[in-house]
Amino acid sequence: MTNLAENLVAAAAARPAHAALKCGPTTYSYAAFDDAAARVATLLADNGIEPGDRIGLMLPNVPEFAILFYGILRAGAVAVPMNPLLKSREIEFYLSNTSAKILFAVPTFAEEANAGAQAAGARCIIADDALVAAIAGSTPQAAPVARDGLDTAVILHTSGTTGKPKGAELTHVGLGRNAEVSVRTLFSAQPDDVIMGCLPLFHVFGLTCGLNSAVYSQSTLTLIPRFDPRVVLDTIAADKVTIFEGVPTMYSALIAARTDTDDTSTLRLCASGGAALPAQVITDFEAAFDAAILEGYGLSETSPVACFNHPDKERKAGSIGTPIEGVEMRVVTVDGTEADVDAPGEIQIRGHNVMKGYWNLPEATAKSIDADGWFSTGDVGTKDADGYYRIVDRTKDMIIRGGFNIYPREVEEVLYEHPAVAAAAVVGIPHSSLGEEVGAAVQLKPGASVTEEELRDYTKERVAAYKYPRQIWFLDALPTGPTGKIQKRDIVIPTN
Ligand code: AMP
Repeated sequence: MTNLAENLVAAAAARPAHAALKCGPTTYSYAAFDDAAARVATLLADNGIEPGDRIGLMLPNVPEFAILFYGILRAGAVAVPMNPLLKSREIEFYLSNTSAKILFAVPTFAEEANAGAQAAGARCIIADDALVAAIAGSTPQAAPVARDGLDTAVILHTSGTTGKPKGAELTHVGLGRNAEVSVRTLFSAQPDDVIMGCLPLFHVFGLTCGLNSAVYSQSTLTLIPRFDPRVVLDTIAADKVTIFEGVPTMYSALIAARTDTDDTSTLRLCASGGAALPAQVITDFEAAFDAAILEGYGLSETSPVACFNHPDKERKAGSIGTPIEGVEMRVVTVDGTEADVDAPGEIQIRGHNVMKGYWNLPEATAKSIDADGWFSTGDVGTKDADGYYRIVDRTKDMIIRGGFNIYPREVEEVLYEHPAVAAAAVVGIPHSSLGEEVGAAVQLKPGASVTEEELRDYTKERVAAYKYPRQIWFLDALPTGPTGKIQKRDIVIPTN
């Protein structure tokens, strides 16, 4: 496999009439899906897009995401998936960072998309009826543009502790093998399987384990544009969903929403990842749904799947399982040696799934991938005597709110921009259903005054809705360490 889009060509050839994508009343067969993607590829080429060019894709889970994504790959271009909730200045950053030429967005978010694209010098194309007509009017491209397996297919923005999000370059072969291994060794997915597509496709988990796995296994992906447990439960019954993939908060929401009349009997396998899955959630979910949840682990930088609890091996609750085929993992201590059994250290990963590097950031790349190809995850974990891994904590600062990643530094930058703010530290606050909520400890400039509400509104206007701090409190001084750096672990969260 060279171009990942070859999987779609193969699916269309083998099962032209089989349902590929469903979304509400809309269904695309594999033939229709591939034909539309082939027309997108021509349209892109006609608009001056060349192999290797970057294209922003800011769509929720609708069939157009899948069609544009595979069209971009078919054209040999690089997709830059983005959360549709981003605000213009965030959009501008993602597009400028990758020198993207085009941004695709849905009409609902056209205003922010247009502003962001204009500021970045990219062309914004709204996925509306006019685009659908333009796609239909273009000629299908004969075959996907040939790519080297190690060429970049996707750039996904992610971040560690410092600075702006970085673009992880994922390759055709990395993404392709990750989907293939997941399909074969985790899901055992067959064409008659129906995969629930409620994880966002702009995130690596939904992209690989949802869209690309469905295409590879020639099964059906049923798309939910916005996660709502009631809609998900109704869709499981209506579309006879067999495979469910989600982050832990989705499982909690489904447990809470389920009633005795919901028919979920078709579910045969559930996979969880993205954040730690509490043991209680496994117990409650399996009692109510009569389907096992297998937990796995990965990151944007690892395409994403690195390990999971394999269905044919013992499942250990609370463990993220064992490495997948073609991937190695190890736990290293601060001095770089391998940690003892059950002793904590940083998890490192090596294999086909590891990104090429961070786009245009050779130093950051060299810091995260060593000369032997080991990628440092920033997660602290352990390995037991049977080779099962567990996540202890994350060294990174990232807050995971309801499955969405939030990088505190980004929100802090905005807080610092407020004239009354001297210093700010954004931290995760434990939350019963979201996992974490965003909080901010703020130190004001001498003599300055601002209310919690004013500051909240200020950030709310400048970052995506899921990122702004819900709780803000004021301190005379933020705790600092010996070098003057803010010590987040010393921040006490008020209990109001
Ligand atoms: P992302 O790049 O958005 O996929 O986020 C990756 C991060 O999510 C990892 O570095 C972990 O901190 C966290 N993560 C993923 N899976 C798990 C898991 N099963 N348990 C705990 N944390 C996880």
